[in-house]
Amino acid sequence: MSLPYARFLGYERGENGKPKIVESEAKVVRLIFDLYLQGKTINGICRYLTDQGIPTPGGKEKWSVPTVNSILRQEKYSGNALLQKRYVANYLTKEIRRNNGEIPQFFVQDSHPGIISETVFNLVQEEMAKNRKLGTRRSAGHIFSSMVSCGDPRCNGIFGSKIWGTGTPYRRRIWQCNEKYRIKGKINCDTPFVTDEELQRAFILAFNQILCNKSDYIDAYEPIIADLTDTSRQDAEIASLQSSSTDIYAEIERLVRDNAHHAQNQETYREKYEALAGRYEESKEKLAVFEAEKQTKLIRRQKIQSFLEKLRGMDGLLQSFDEAIFRAMTERMTVFSKRNVSVTFRDGREVHVDPGK
Ligand SMILES: [Zn+2]
Repeated sequence: MSLPYARFLGYERGENGKPKIVESEAKVVRLIFDLYLQGKTINGICRYLTDQGIPTPGGKEKWSVPTVNSILRQEKYSGNALLQKRYVANYLTKEIRRNNGEIPQFFVQDSHPGIISETVFNLVQEEMAKNRKLGTRRSAGHIFSSMVSCGDPRCNGIFGSKIWGTGTPYRRRIWQCNEKYRIKGKINCDTPFVTDEELQRAFILAFNQILCNKSDYIDAYEPIIADLTDTSRQDAEIASLQSSSTDIYAEIERLVRDNAHHAQNQETYREKYEALAGRYEESKEKLAVFEAEKQTKLIRRQKIQSFLEKLRGMDGLLQSFDEAIFRAMTERMTVFSKRNVSVTFRDGREVHVDPGK
């Protein structure tokens, strides 16, 4: 595999022609992934790197959104590369084509040394997909933007903000379900609006509940982490499926080669080819299922571990609302009523509080 080394942060061409890690650059790559998982926006990451005087891959001073974006999406940083196998496009003409997604592409695992773990990479992709789905860049707007959802199970809308009392001393920001008045004259849910202060208070209450039982909370995760770490069942299935896929693929190649050199009944050939192709597809599908299972476990573990790590670093209780802590620790908030708001933390735990108390 060859990389555009000159502008590729983190690697240089090694002696054997394979990518070799440049530790000083790899640090920057890890920092970018870390900052994103801490809840920083891509814009925020650019500002941070520029302020720190870290040069861009092109040697410039100012970091841009596309640069950081492409680093966060670069699967090569996890040590894996997408295998662009050529494939037989037409079994009669034996046309060989480059695979652009027509047949399942698969990852070559550990094709070169990774700078970040596969789990961190997948976690970032998951976060990015979530932010795209919400349709808002996290950089846009307020800290609560696209973070608060409606607790009415019939609705599940996202809360949007509104300023009340503009130009008066009573000016304040409120948050209400976007779905509520979508159809004119028809109220879809009864979930009330909440103020900035109520949301902040709900977060402080929920987070302090965790902080005041910090050591018990962390200990309770031990067996869960142990279970999530154990992927031996998935690993065994993956290994066996990978080896059978490789065998089937080799058989297909043999069949195609054979057909090119020897005259044979094309009907029989077609049947053989299709049977093999079917088995190949089936095995790839099963493989994808176990890979996904394994990654789900590891991603969940990573989320819990980084949450607990931050928790360990905190002393005492939260006295006031802290944007950085909120961003780093919170997955979302849900409003059920004025007296029942929940905070779902990044480890997956949901804590209900009464911000009116
Ligand atoms: Zn609603």
